[in-house]
Amino acid sequence: MTHAPVRDVVIVGGGTAGWMTAAYLTAAFGDRINITLVESADVGTIGVGEATFSDIRHFFEFLGLAERDWMPACNATYKLAVRFEDWREPGHHFYHPFEQLRSVKGFPLTDWWLRYPTSDRFDVDCFVMASLIDGNRSPRYLDNRLLEQDFVEGEAAPNTIAEYQGAQFPYAYHFEAHLLAKYLTKYATQRGVRHVVDNVVDVGLDERGWLSHVRTAEHGRLDGDLFVDCTGFRGLLLNKALEEPFVSYQDTLPNDSAVALQVPMDMDKDPLRPCTTATAQDAGWIWTIPLISRIGTGYVYARDYMDPEEAERTLREFVGPAAADVPANHIRMRIGRSRRSWVNNCVAIGLSSGFVEPLESTGIFFIHYAIEQLVKYYPAADWDLSLREQYNSAVMNVMDGVREFLVLHYRGAKRADNQYWRDTKTRAVPDALAERLELWESKVPDTGTVYPRYHGLPPYSYNCILLGTGGIPVRPSPALDLVDEKAALAEFQAIKDKARSLVRTLPTQNAYFKRMRDGV
Ligand code: FAD
Repeated sequence: MTHAPVRDVVIVGGGTAGWMTAAYLTAAFGDRINITLVESADVGTIGVGEATFSDIRHFFEFLGLAERDWMPACNATYKLAVRFEDWREPGHHFYHPFEQLRSVKGFPLTDWWLRYPTSDRFDVDCFVMASLIDGNRSPRYLDNRLLEQDFVEGEAAPNTIAEYQGAQFPYAYHFEAHLLAKYLTKYATQRGVRHVVDNVVDVGLDERGWLSHVRTAEHGRLDGDLFVDCTGFRGLLLNKALEEPFVSYQDTLPNDSAVALQVPMDMDKDPLRPCTTATAQDAGWIWTIPLISRIGTGYVYARDYMDPEEAERTLREFVGPAAADVPANHIRMRIGRSRRSWVNNCVAIGLSSGFVEPLESTGIFFIHYAIEQLVKYYPAADWDLSLREQYNSAVMNVMDGVREFLVLHYRGAKRADNQYWRDTKTRAVPDALAERLELWESKVPDTGTVYPRYHGLPPYSYNCILLGTGGIPVRPSPALDLVDEKAALAEFQAIKDKARSLVRTLPTQNAYFKRMRDGV
């Protein structure tokens, strides 16, 4: 056995996961490896997955793609935050923005805000972004300058998640999932990825129980060294052929279904809100994702509390007449993760690896992170077990950490107006979260008290959800009574002034994207 890297990669599945993996591997290794991607024309992709995390910019930078290259092709828009509506009570909203939390004299501004609430909106008082979103602003000026200039962009930019753990980049993207897959298909095939459209009908194992090939209906055997399972919830290679068990998160995150609609919109008339909105409902929540030519929307719900017909009816009422003629896409979700995502010579990426519900848009982040880890721990022909184990714990930690963060949303939500919401207060939470919840009542979350391993969510995100959802009592640090508050009050004022100035000078998203669309 040699320590030379394996060369022949077969990716099964052509959804967001399959094409992101193919494009990234080809950008990383060029023609030093051979990649074949097989996807079925009969089995569709999941057809949703349109909101992202701010780290996604590293993906496009790694591929050498500028926003002007790919955004118009994918009907993409900017996302500055998630807006949560009605999680505390009807009519209330707050933002979880892409903006670091400032601190004053060693205390986070949220702590100061609890002691000196300058208004009833912690998000507006502590973050500049909240006012920008209320004003439907773009994070870039019409000449393409970013609202803040302390981020490195272009070729000099660090282009992996790991290299960039410092400042918080101020936005993520919304895009049409099938257009992104199409764009990446072109990107990857132009760089040498072999594209096979066919059904995988059988998976071949060798005498050790490792994958030797997949058999397709019309193209025969596809042999490889490394197989990437991007077959979605089916988990055709990892879960079915290799029988790797699935660890369900359903006991702590009960939403297991979704119904989605694609609602037409007109960018020349309708405002493009620069955020994903998550509106709490009787048995879950509804997402609203503004894109250039339509709004993506869907109701994520738990079948134990609502049936699909009622969910669709509720969604249609929520959207109104604009969606009257639009067909609904009903989806059953598998919530949890494969026990190990990499087994023998098979790595599952995407829904086959794992999925929490889409509340904080982490599905594509999981994919991106997993691909980066695959490059980092890429195998050699001796199949060093330690590389596989390091990969598996990185991927597992990220999903388990996000699960805790999502559970906080439901546990923290003040609303308890029906059985679904009352149960969110009594249902078991993941092991260590119960203890953390107690700690956070006396001191807002910081690096020492959130899920300790990397999972993409800094402590400020926990602060936002805790203060925004409003159901868990939180107290300011007693020490704040002993510290002069002038600097903190000045910081609140500085945020207000900066927000006002930015709202005045930045264009609306509509203006920004009309300019991009018109190619000016
Ligand atoms: P799929 O899209 O299901 O693709 C599976 C592929 O496998 C297809 O190409 C299919 O043809 C192929 N295939 C299957 N069987 C065979 C076979 N026998 N032979 C050949 N090919 C085969 N993520 C986010 O980041 N943000 C969001 O806002 C978001 N919203 C979501 C909302 C919902 C309701 C759900 C369910 C998910 C959401 N996600 C979101 C997650 C996101 O959609 C997925 O992570 C992403 O689309 C990746 O899907 P996939 O490529 O793993 O699987």
